[in-house]
Amino acid sequence: MGPRVVPVSGMFHWLTRQLDKIGSPTLDWVQVEVTTHCNASCIYCPHTIMKNHWPNRHMSMELFSELMPFLKYTDLVFLQGWGEPLLNRDFFDMARACKDRRKQVGFTTNGTLLTEETIERLIDLPLDIMGVSLAGTTAKTHNRFRNGADLNKVISSLLLLDRMKAEKKSDKPEVHLAYLMLRSNFRELDDILPLAKSVGAKQVIASNLTFIVDPELFGEAIFNDTDGGDYYRMALERTKDQAPDEDIIFEYHGPYLDHSSLSCRENVRHACVVNVEGDVVPCVLTNPVLCGNKARSYGEPTYYAFEHQLPPIRGMSFGNIGHENLTRIWNKEDYVHFRKLFVPHTSSKRDTLHELPPCCLQCYKRLGA
Ligand code: SF4
Ligand code: SF4
Repeated sequence: MGPRVVPVSGMFHWLTRQLDKIGSPTLDWVQVEVTTHCNASCIYCPHTIMKNHWPNRHMSMELFSELMPFLKYTDLVFLQGWGEPLLNRDFFDMARACKDRRKQVGFTTNGTLLTEETIERLIDLPLDIMGVSLAGTTAKTHNRFRNGADLNKVISSLLLLDRMKAEKKSDKPEVHLAYLMLRSNFRELDDILPLAKSVGAKQVIASNLTFIVDPELFGEAIFNDTDGGDYYRMALERTKDQAPDEDIIFEYHGPYLDHSSLSCRENVRHACVVNVEGDVVPCVLTNPVLCGNKARSYGEPTYYAFEHQLPPIRGMSFGNIGHENLTRIWNKEDYVHFRKLFVPHTSSKRDTLHELPPCCLQCYKRLGA
């Protein structure tokens, strides 16, 4: 038998793949902020607190298309930023473009725009993961924190989704409930598993209020309750133990802080965020839309609460997909150096902590919250 003949197009494809491997990113996911508009006004969200100078934008399909060649570096695209993704009229075209490239697609919604028609489109895509944000299991509590995203309406939409999935014999989109734990709603977490089961959710993630833009909410963060740590942890563990009986995965972020931690909850070494204007940033907390960078015509400088201090919110961008490709941005010296700071055991903790940028030093996500 003679040598295997590789067609020219196949050879080209093979060569491209080999070249891509040199310094190409391998990402667990790419998060894309498709909009910064929102129809709700949750009291803890920067969108609400900075409403007087909030940059309301939709990502254009044209800018989103710049990302397409780089989706080969990941299997999951999460269409999510500081806003309600379903408000972008191109949302379904963006999701379709990713699905056509055999990517898994997820997003998180406030659940207010889940009409029958929208649900049908989500199932037909099919969209893979739909996160739904909650801040309580009763309407009284949830609605107090999540103005404009009525819990009863959210639940009836999820029940409709569950029925329509059954009719269409589809198990997608898989519903994940994202529960924001606060001191005022913590007890209601006891009812999260029955609620999740009743709406057909597969996963519940209980997370902390890590980005405190309104200092008045400082006391709501459970990790700031110095006496309550054990109580919270035991309650969370109890729920985690019960979850498998309901066929639900329950994950939570803990109530303790570790100041010497060199890890970051945002998976910065293997994922990136592309913001609404195409900036490539390591996490949503360093998204330049949050800060007063006048050169980019965002708003006034803004501050957040961290351990009784009010540091300024600092934006960070390693490049923009509007004029550079993601491989080049990923391999820039300053981005490589930044990611190295989060590699365990590369240097002594003390040196590495010293090198961390202030936004990471003063970040509850680094402290494990
Ligand atoms: S729904 Fe999301 S983006 Fe909108 S105000 Fe609430 S937390 Fe912010
Ligand atoms: S430590 Fe905080 S600011 Fe730094 S990358 Fe992680 S989430 Fe972002």
